[in-house]
Amino acid sequence: MLSMSYHSESNKLEVLHSFFDSASLSAPDIVKASALSRPTVDALLNELLSKGLISKRGTGQSTGGRKPVLFSLNGTGRFSIGVAVSIPGISGVVVDLSGTIHASESIALPIWSSGEDFVSCVAELILRLIAKVPDAKRFQGIGVAIPGLVDQEKGISVFFSRLSNFFNAPLKDMLEKKVGCSVSVSRYLGSAAYSQLLPLQNNANKSLMYVELAEGIEMALFYQGRPYRGHILNEGGLGHMVIEKGGRTCLCGAKGCLEAYASNRVLIDEAKLQVRNGVVSKVPQDREMDENEFYYLVRGNDPLALSVAEKGIDYLALGIANVVNLLNPTKIIISGAIASAGEGFLDGIRTRIRHYTLKALGEELDIVFLPFRLEEGAKGVALLRLYQDLNILN
Ligand SMILES: [Zn+2]
Repeated sequence: MLSMSYHSESNKLEVLHSFFDSASLSAPDIVKASALSRPTVDALLNELLSKGLISKRGTGQSTGGRKPVLFSLNGTGRFSIGVAVSIPGISGVVVDLSGTIHASESIALPIWSSGEDFVSCVAELILRLIAKVPDAKRFQGIGVAIPGLVDQEKGISVFFSRLSNFFNAPLKDMLEKKVGCSVSVSRYLGSAAYSQLLPLQNNANKSLMYVELAEGIEMALFYQGRPYRGHILNEGGLGHMVIEKGGRTCLCGAKGCLEAYASNRVLIDEAKLQVRNGVVSKVPQDREMDENEFYYLVRGNDPLALSVAEKGIDYLALGIANVVNLLNPTKIIISGAIASAGEGFLDGIRTRIRHYTLKALGEELDIVFLPFRLEEGAKGVALLRLYQDLNILN
């Protein structure tokens, strides 16, 4: 049986939650929208008010008696810090309850000689951010997202691809010793999705598929704001879905993986090969080209870049559609340099995903593109930390 404290906690969350969807609410509004009694709502509002999570904002329309007091979410009632570590470097932000960024710091692609060196680098960035928290009394804690495999409960970096000797490292403990504050550690993949999901609003009660096109093709799945976690913490390998039986060899060693046909690296290599074979294009022959430049050429309708990209996205759409047919998500966010490829090209991706999807599932699907920004990941992990501490997420 659930305890009284559980009920009281879940009632409190229900009341706090209602403020994420409405600019202002009165006690009668909340009573009407919930199954709670007026005395319960009044007590919970007083508690949230005393914790500084909501504020009084004037009075509403009278329905006969006194005008009811209006309350709204106090965006600056709590602050947290988020730090995201990925290929472009380290990004950190200070955010508040409403998701507003108050300060940011970043370090571009540092080379770490050891795990200790990496930890010192992250700790230094965190200390710079702590100094910028607007109100220390309202500071909740720090969330750090790193690539690879993470044991979130223990705060351990199980495997970190950029630091081959950083196996089973107690990152949470190491950072806490250096910064003197509570730190939680999570997996980088999917962090940027939290900046879209949180603060939790109605649309977060649906299911979300987040696809990140960077070095590889990875995916994070969310249901009602919570991530799906695999058994050995290694879920989301969309890039290793086999889409051609006996096809090209992938970096993972298997044959026919999606990544071997549609990753940015494969598309760029294919375009460069064709230029070397004499195809006329703005694709450079004599120097490296990054994914931003590649999708800039796609946007500019360079015939070679466009034809290579179109072949790639046909495979990508097939891979995504297979997941849609299995899991029927409400919304797909596709993040990466591809978001700058131009609206016509992006519409083509939407059309192809729907083409490969069961008709009824494709019609209802919302597909959006998000430019890759490490700061989005930092904001996402900061909000995750904040809402976990407030018991809005677990
Ligand atoms: Zn593979």
